[in-house]
Amino acid sequence: MSATDQRRTDADLVVPFSDLVALSADVGDALELAWKEVTAGASFIGGRQVERFEEEWAAYCGAKHAVGVANGTDAIQLTLRALGIGAGDEVIVPANSFIATAEAVVLAGATPRLVDVDPETLLVTPDTIAPAINARTAAIIVVHLYGNVPAMDAIVDLARTRQLALIEDAAQAHGSTWRGARTGSLGVAGCFSFFPGKNLGAFGDGGAVVTDAAPLASRIQSLRNHGRLPGASHVHAAVGTNSRLDALQAAVLSAKLPRLDEWNRARRSAVAAYRRLLDPAIRTVRIDDDVESSFHQHVVRVPDRDLVRDGLTRRGIQTGIHYPIPCHLQEPYAAYTPGPLPVAERAAGEILSLPVFPHITQEQVRYVSDCLNQLVGEAQRHGG
Ligand SMILES: *Cc1c(COP(=O)(O)O)cnc(C)c1O
Repeated sequence: MSATDQRRTDADLVVPFSDLVALSADVGDALELAWKEVTAGASFIGGRQVERFEEEWAAYCGAKHAVGVANGTDAIQLTLRALGIGAGDEVIVPANSFIATAEAVVLAGATPRLVDVDPETLLVTPDTIAPAINARTAAIIVVHLYGNVPAMDAIVDLARTRQLALIEDAAQAHGSTWRGARTGSLGVAGCFSFFPGKNLGAFGDGGAVVTDAAPLASRIQSLRNHGRLPGASHVHAAVGTNSRLDALQAAVLSAKLPRLDEWNRARRSAVAAYRRLLDPAIRTVRIDDDVESSFHQHVVRVPDRDLVRDGLTRRGIQTGIHYPIPCHLQEPYAAYTPGPLPVAERAAGEILSLPVFPHITQEQVRYVSDCLNQLVGEAQRHGG
């Protein structure tokens, strides 16, 4: 093996994919305070810190209620269960999401119906959703993939006319807006993950559902806590589960939330710099004027993607692919689509997620852009 073939070590890394250490450093004092508060209170699951974060998160999203849960997958699963959606029901889900969206539907006992997406935005539209609606359809889950938001007015209309519950998987869209309204407030419920790598991340797993519907919020509160009735710890009114948010995670999230908008602005300015520096021939994912994206990812679509990606790795640049295999081509989910989904399948071979995180520097963005311009130019000359 020649020296150039050898994998770079971390020390050679010029541009990492993210920097969670810098995020924690931004809120070091608040984190210390949070730790002290939780250890002094000795209320480790639920309690004051969780209630405080739930209030803050609901207010941030522009919703009346937020219910903290153990992770984003449970946020979706418990929302479906609380809406009475389960065995015999179909739920429409995009094929190009993280697997958890379809997985949560199966865990709720319902059947995911995987659909294709728009070739420019890679998001669902009424045209990709409508053909999948039938008498068994109970809900639509839109995924705000990479932080981008589909044209919600038309999807809200479709859900209303067909009497379907509209659920947002906003696990990648903390703080994204559509016509000024935050994600999570655009459907009957919005489901969030606070996995450490998300735009708002805990120090472990966490999640939340936001909604304006008080009965829905209280059903999820009960389901996350073994089906207990509020204030009656030995009465179990439903078969629930254990999906509570830890006080420590809630305190970490409260410490970080005041910085979320600033961190999202830094992501947006990094993406603006990429757009200035990248060769205009390099396609990105279209974002409509109605949308302000959280830019959980900045995704380009390139020829010879795997070769280009290897070239970036050799230059010390970490990248990702979200996601290389669409859900309907994953063996356990193959039964949930009636046929090929050409847009999702083609995109899976082209997409490449570039480093974008709040503390990325202008020099790093320039270096990635220069390297990518060069590698894509070479790929095109070789007829890629
Ligand atoms: C992260 C993510 C989830 C799941 O969240 P977890 O907290 O990991 O369970 C669901 N949907 C999407 C689109 C995600 O990115």
